[in-house]
Amino acid sequence: SNHNLYALVTGGNRGIGLEVCKQLVERKKPVILTCRNLEAGKAAAAELSKNGTDVRVLSLDTGSAASINELAQHIKSEYDQKIDLLVNNAGILVRAAWDKPTYDTTLAVNTAGPVLLSQSLLPLLAPGALIINVSSGLGKLANLSPDYVEAVAAMSSIDAFKEPAAAVPFNADSSMGSAAPGAGGMCPTYCVAKALLNKAGQLLAADDVFKQRGVSVVAVCPGWCRTDMGGEGADRSGAEGAASVLAPWLKWDSSMNGGFSRDGEPQEW
Ligand code: NDP
Repeated sequence: SNHNLYALVTGGNRGIGLEVCKQLVERKKPVILTCRNLEAGKAAAAELSKNGTDVRVLSLDTGSAASINELAQHIKSEYDQKIDLLVNNAGILVRAAWDKPTYDTTLAVNTAGPVLLSQSLLPLLAPGALIINVSSGLGKLANLSPDYVEAVAAMSSIDAFKEPAAAVPFNADSSMGSAAPGAGGMCPTYCVAKALLNKAGQLLAADDVFKQRGVSVVAVCPGWCRTDMGGEGADRSGAEGAASVLAPWLKWDSSMNGGFSRDGEPQEW
């Protein structure tokens, strides 16, 4: 890793994103922490930068294309070719709901956001940069009903991911939720969003423009972590989850490009 170049982390103010920032700073990696609430970000950054590492804070709502565009403009003027790691961490989980509003919002934040941000920042990233999409084991196809497994597989153009809820329409009659086994049934919209994120990463990694710039894309599962999202009963700390997120960056293997991993170990999804 290059210690003059920045890592940009979304949702860096709390949870796994904050732990990712901490672990980067421990390695003296400069960080651009992005979050919705600038005050929360500044408070986190003040703590993080105590070891002398450069930590910047920028505003970003990953559910808003306008916010992503605004950030990209700012990156272009201030950090062009100065970022070699993008961690798409921000995400939401609404339990149990299987309704269109939840579906639209979850796909906008968890799927379209990371895809739009990756595409907008691509020309501004340092050649050879790595993009890590924080996904979930819940996005494995086994958690989806057959109609959604098919719909995910049919997504063949990256442009369709800009409006994923239009490309993979909500189906109120889907067996999702009731039929999906295990934890997947508790958060069906989230499972669809993360499966689509995995698929998008596969397509981005195979995209000619990404290949020409040597930019790699991986999806990771942090494991079930004790954060606001994961709850107190989770078996991992946020720090353990962050270590799983950063494993591909710490020990890069080009065969990981386009794939999914947990604790640095490639997995089928
Ligand atoms: P938290 O709920 O603890 O934190 C979520 C973070 O995402 C916050 O910083 C939040 O910001 C940010 N965020 C949410 N929506 C937006 C948005 N529209 N724009 C910008 N930032 C946003 O979750 P975790 O830390 O647990 O999760 C981090 C990632 O890890 C997520 O992608 C999640 O899906 C994934 N994951 C988590 C697991 C777990 O067990 N915890 C398991 C598997 C995957 P704000 O403070 O403004 O709300």
